[in-house]
Amino acid sequence: MPVLLLVGAGHAHLHLARRAAALAAAGYQVLLLAPRYFDYSGVASATAAGVLDGSVGRIDVRALAAASSLEMHEGTLESLDPQARIAVTSAGELLAYDVLSLNIGSVADPVGVHVHPSVLRVKPLRGLAELDGRLRARGAQRAVVTVVGGGSSGVELAAHLSVRSDVAHVQLVESGAGVGAGLPAGARRRIVRLLARRGVAVHTGRVVRELGERQLVCDDGTVIAHDVALLAAGLTAPPLLAEIGLGDGRGVPVRATLQHVERDEVYAVGDCALFLPRALPRIGVHGVRQGPVLLQSLLARARGAALPVYEPQRRALAVLDLGDGVGLAARGGLWWYGTAALRLKRYVDRRWLRTYQEPVPLPRAGPGKR
Ligand SMILES: Cc1cc2nc3c(=O)[nH]c(=O)nc-3n(C[C@H](O)[C@H](O)[C@H](O)COP(=O)(O)OP(=O)(O)OC[C@H]3O[C@@H](n4cnc5c(N)ncnc54)[C@H](O)[C@@H]3O)c2cc1C
Repeated sequence: MPVLLLVGAGHAHLHLARRAAALAAAGYQVLLLAPRYFDYSGVASATAAGVLDGSVGRIDVRALAAASSLEMHEGTLESLDPQARIAVTSAGELLAYDVLSLNIGSVADPVGVHVHPSVLRVKPLRGLAELDGRLRARGAQRAVVTVVGGGSSGVELAAHLSVRSDVAHVQLVESGAGVGAGLPAGARRRIVRLLARRGVAVHTGRVVRELGERQLVCDDGTVIAHDVALLAAGLTAPPLLAEIGLGDGRGVPVRATLQHVERDEVYAVGDCALFLPRALPRIGVHGVRQGPVLLQSLLARARGAALPVYEPQRRALAVLDLGDGVGLAARGGLWWYGTAALRLKRYVDRRWLRTYQEPVPLPRAGPGKR
């Protein structure tokens, strides 16, 4: 019986975990190596800023695995020998596999920036979860917060923090010419107006060289002081991938079939994959959409059938949660701002989360019929 080892309970592997019965019926012994909890990034800014309770975006992976009769090994991947096909876990277990799939996300680790250990990073998400507690711990001392990185997550966090009563001032530092890259021009202007109205100081064209506990230093010598710093830039694949020889900071190089470019038995999905047919942004949508393709690939492989390919959507809906009850939704060149956009986001996020937080049994033939 071939052993299928799933490493990390990211979006795509959660899809597989729910459908472990189909994989078992196809002849696999399925092992899942992952931390007990998965935290969902769609609500991460709101939970980090204290608007939503931390439990809202939390999935109990152990409970999900138990409900699917999946063999779970709680912990993380520490090292791996791709030749011998053996993984070593943080608990010291050795797990031999025939087929491996990696879904371990990304880390905020910009190249060439010296980052003090006290700085909170948006990825992995567990670091970000400390933000609310750190601000509350200051009591009556209102904090000056610097957010480094003006992409979607940096903008969300700056916007959220700007309406907290215990935050005195928010500074958003971005190396590019503007914030909200990738959004339509009108949406970017709307965000800039919102941030200005909320008193956020936006510094663009500033390349941060050193991000310290109480100040940052830019390449041009600019110094910006703060009480709390948040790093929301430089998402890369976890360094572990290079250590085990399956990729580099860009990710595990995969073909359209989601298989490693040189190793048919290795799959990678989500943020930790480098999709070779075309560069994909690190957004959860791809992890979610790759789940069914990965499942079908594993089932087809067991039958000796042709493997499906992942065809990424050119345009995906993105909704930013901008705090104070408003959001900004964008798809392609279209965008809209307001409370309805945030309601849509909450609806989509809750629906996805409920699938894994309150799993209902799937119809027996479900996975094969997609
Ligand atoms: C603040 C913020 C907000 C965001 N909002 C959105 C949004 O609204 N919509 C959107 O599409 N994208 C959003 N993103 C991007 C999104 O977070 C990522 O693209 C998405 O999480 C990637 O999914 P994934 O399944 O690849 O990995 P992840 O969701 O990161 O899951 C990977 C899992 O692997 C586990 N893991 C890590 N290392 C190991 C290891 N060595 N061994 C075992 N397990 C491991 C982790 O604990 C984690 O549970 C946001 C990002 C941030 C930072």
